[in-house]
Amino acid sequence: MKKIVVVGSLNVDFVVSTPVLPKEGQTVLGHSFRKFPGGKGANQSVALARLGAHVSHIGKVGGDDHAQLLKRSLEEAGVHLNGLIEDDTMHTGIALIELADNGANTIVVIPGANMLLLPSDLDPFLPLLRAADFIVLQNEIPMETNLRVARLGREAGAMVIYNPAPFQEGSERICLLADLIVPNEIELSDLSGFSAKTDREMEGAAEKLLETGRAEAVVVTLGARGCMVKDRKGAELFPAVSVKAIDTTAAGDAFIAGMVSSLSEGNDLRKSILMANEVAGYTVTILGAQSSLPTREQLDQFRARLRK
Ligand code: ADP
Repeated sequence: MKKIVVVGSLNVDFVVSTPVLPKEGQTVLGHSFRKFPGGKGANQSVALARLGAHVSHIGKVGGDDHAQLLKRSLEEAGVHLNGLIEDDTMHTGIALIELADNGANTIVVIPGANMLLLPSDLDPFLPLLRAADFIVLQNEIPMETNLRVARLGREAGAMVIYNPAPFQEGSERICLLADLIVPNEIELSDLSGFSAKTDREMEGAAEKLLETGRAEAVVVTLGARGCMVKDRKGAELFPAVSVKAIDTTAAGDAFIAGMVSSLSEGNDLRKSILMANEVAGYTVTILGAQSSLPTREQLDQFRARLRK
């Protein structure tokens, strides 16, 4: 079985549900509050493990109860946790999420321990990183750490998949080392320095990333529209599955996991994109981050329902 290593954030999501998102200065009465394990890195690890992939997670949590919630979720999914570091000097990362009834959300992340995952923390995990077939990175840990991981991945011949979310200064340096770059439209525009509003603009912006780096392809996620793949063969749109979206939290993470899980089974990029849209489509129909990520069995049942 191919080995996947995700190096990235772990956050506890505090989700408040509300009829409408408050405007600046406004207070609204919401209807409920729930706490979910989340964080882009952890979500991607959990999603991969639920789909049956062999995945190890490298990341940092605080010495608090929130860390326990995250560990339980990763363990239950089957993620290998030998790369998880606990740091008592800082709290675990958290995200405050406002979720409106129409599925729209606003998110504030307080990175906490995630930002203390330093390049030197990787030393004990060099054998793990060097043995990886696929390495998955996002932007919720220090950029210098991402940079070291991407370089190690390159040297070891792993496929480096980079999800530059949320956009951070310095992302361009990781793009230069990545084999596959998976931004949304906003991140694509920030990365390339070009407007990416129309399909044509998007294609041009993705082309710019391909020209400057060594990536084989850029996959731009487009929410309810699905995604665009841009590689040397050209650009192609892959529509999203048709579902009623309840909560799009973790949709991007589910997308990455569906794609990488399929690639790790030896499928090509275009086939893997179909799986990515399906896994992400399942996720938007359920509330929460990790709570909405499907197992392989749930995904198969979902596919059967889509075909009806
Ligand atoms: P992010 O939340 O990271 O910006 P997107 O909003 O682009 O990511 O969504 C990621 C993927 O989730 C999309 O490419 C698509 O496959 C799926 N998705 C998002 N919203 C919907 C929706 N309303 N219906 C079906 N699939 C969706």
